[in-house]
Amino acid sequence: MTELSAGIVSTQEPEDAGTTPDAPPTSVLYRELLQNYKNIVASEGVYLTDSTGRRYIDAVGGTAVNIIGHGVSEISARVADNWDSTSFVYSAFMTNPWQEELARKLASITPIEDGRVFFTSGGSEANESAVKLARQYHLDCGRASKWKVISRTASYHGNTLAMLALSGRPTWSARYSPYLDSSPKIAAAYCYRCPFSLSHPQCGIRCAEDLERVILQEGPDTVSAFLVEPISGSSLAGAVPVEGYYERIQEICRKYDVLFIADEVLTGYGRTGRTFAIEHWDVTPDIVTVGKGLGSGYTPIAACVASGAIVDKIRSVSGQFVHGFTYGGMPMACAIGVQVFDYIQEHSLFELASTRGDYLRARLEELAPTIPAIGDIRGLGLLQGVEIVGNPKTRQPFSPDRKIASRIVREAEARGVLFREGTPGANAGKDGDQIQISPPFVISPNEIDEMVSVLGDSIRTVLAEEA
Ligand code: PLP
Repeated sequence: MTELSAGIVSTQEPEDAGTTPDAPPTSVLYRELLQNYKNIVASEGVYLTDSTGRRYIDAVGGTAVNIIGHGVSEISARVADNWDSTSFVYSAFMTNPWQEELARKLASITPIEDGRVFFTSGGSEANESAVKLARQYHLDCGRASKWKVISRTASYHGNTLAMLALSGRPTWSARYSPYLDSSPKIAAAYCYRCPFSLSHPQCGIRCAEDLERVILQEGPDTVSAFLVEPISGSSLAGAVPVEGYYERIQEICRKYDVLFIADEVLTGYGRTGRTFAIEHWDVTPDIVTVGKGLGSGYTPIAACVASGAIVDKIRSVSGQFVHGFTYGGMPMACAIGVQVFDYIQEHSLFELASTRGDYLRARLEELAPTIPAIGDIRGLGLLQGVEIVGNPKTRQPFSPDRKIASRIVREAEARGVLFREGTPGANAGKDGDQIQISPPFVISPNEIDEMVSVLGDSIRTVLAEEA
């Protein structure tokens, strides 16, 4: 047993955490492939401790997963106290009290009319479920020709083959292109680098109008759904569409019988300061997917929440949804989901994300004028992004081969804070270098100060090397 830091004890001896190229071989595939691959042996609040005893502020919440903080032993204690004997039932044939309870709780907070919940183990599966459910709905409406799903450039919806095809992330999908159907995309809502070289409000929200253009181009009778991250997550580090954007998107979707699917796998569960990010606009999607925060990293769980109207239609016509995953809705995952839900409510964590998010944003706004290369700060709540540019006047990015964002992330790590770079090279040479900030909601103002101070020092160090 090793004392790592106050109150944090590891059962493992300190070791080389795989941070050197000559680290001993292991059975973990990623550890074989990546240098600087940490072995995290303890965690508490916003801190992670690796097997060498180094402690880090987790400024990205894993990958925007953790919201309640690390190491909350109350979750497992409450599950143990309330556990019944059922280890597994297959959700395609049976339900269980934990699934029922979590579905009821989730539906009660999701901005969907009369929501019905389908649980999965992860966000990609939840999005696949949403796309398949939309298809089944159109079949049952007698619109068999509707199958295409429109999404946006610079987007991410998951790593399964169908979701890679729908993601606007060429650096991740290009090598798998033989397996991927091409799918129609509309322009990203990215005001800092408007794809139409326009500015708001004179633009007339052209990026929303782009949906109608693509629906007409593809043929409205072929389009099933529009899939969108309400606020960009890892692809554009917190890019927020302008006021009125989703109201127009909803109008276009309704005009052409296209279902509006909000992928809230990253932004849902309070991350952006509202329970769901789409609630920053006055719209009601047809399907919402939710992931990361739902289990807060304490269990693999995600969900697809569809409107009652969709499910009622399917029930009254074909009565079929030919789909399912073995582990979707399993009792233990849902039991943990229930405890996470209750913990969030008891500690008002969604509200905390809003106030801590405002605090973080104010600190970033103070930092920006001291570093002209910070071209843009964006995001809402505790999903914030910083874009670094080579020339602040022209917004010209650094050349991708300078790897500015990944060097900043490495510098910060050496100073004890873990950030994440926004999709390396997704729009190489066009977008600036992006840093994503999405800590657990329990981060304190002091920890935010430290995180932002380390970010500033790390950016300055990397820029000094470029000078
Ligand atoms: N959708 C969004 C917006 C995401 O950010 C992610 C993961 O980062 C996914 C879907 C995929 O979720 P998972 O990795 O749980 O399959």
